[in-house]
Amino acid sequence: MEKKELLYEGKAKKVYKTDDEDLLIVSYKDDATALDGLKKGTITGKGAINNRMSNYLMRLLEKNGVHTHFVKELSDRDTVVKKVSIVPLEVIIRNISAGHFAQRYGVKEGIVFAEPTIEFSYKNDDLHDPLLNSYHAIALGLATKEEIELIKNMSFKVNTVLKEYFLSRNVTLVDFKLEFGKTKDGQIILADEISPDTCRFWDAKTGEKLDKDRFRRDMGGVEEAYNEMMRRVFGEEV
Ligand code: ADP
Ligand code: UDP
Repeated sequence: MEKKELLYEGKAKKVYKTDDEDLLIVSYKDDATALDGLKKGTITGKGAINNRMSNYLMRLLEKNGVHTHFVKELSDRDTVVKKVSIVPLEVIIRNISAGHFAQRYGVKEGIVFAEPTIEFSYKNDDLHDPLLNSYHAIALGLATKEEIELIKNMSFKVNTVLKEYFLSRNVTLVDFKLEFGKTKDGQIILADEISPDTCRFWDAKTGEKLDKDRFRRDMGGVEEAYNEMMRRVFGEEV
């Protein structure tokens, strides 16, 4: 399968049409942005790591009954996915306080919640992805009540599967962002990516940050953290 016309170039990926109108090719870049697009940079090797890790995790989720857009890995950076119409919501699941949650509610990072939390942002760069609740999402026509219910259930299932998986790799899954999409026949599936760009990963023993926070917060060791996460997931296969 080959890339045809460029459909969309985002901050971290390019999306191409293919000969099959139901399939797209996503191509992962090394470009990184943070702080609502204000901070820009490059993380060398990130594209290949995020592509391979996201595909691995989507396959793991499929095995556990979560339907995803993953079809086939073409190369280090390119993957065939099912074309969906993206539900314009960023779904964030949190197991431990960090990032905006800690800022917004004035608490320290690292509080382990009794139950995971879920929140939604309206995926809209012009409005800076404002936080909204499920009633707002339904009122704005972003998704139906049934779709929101499904998205919530799927997101918590993803959390259960990934939390356990990462713990087996000596990594604490702190929080993450998911995107969902609707196929031509109306099925809601998991889309976009799951990677150190979209998750917070802490070493389970030392608490060392192994994700994009090292870039956001100018901590150094960004490439090393992405590579270390790759090793934890793929072991000796890298
Ligand atoms: P952004 O748009 O936030 O800059 P990216 O650079 O990651 O993000 O661009 C990838 C774009 O492709 C995102 O807008 C994402 O919602 C969209 N996307 C992800 N998976 C699919 C899919 N299966 N079908 C259609 N669009 C998708
Ligand atoms: N996240 C993301 N894309 C976004 C915003 C957040 O992938 O546009 C992820 C982020 O990596 C983290 C989780 O969602 O794992 C929660 O992020 P938070 O709301 O704390 O915001 P951040 O501090 O990451 O901007």
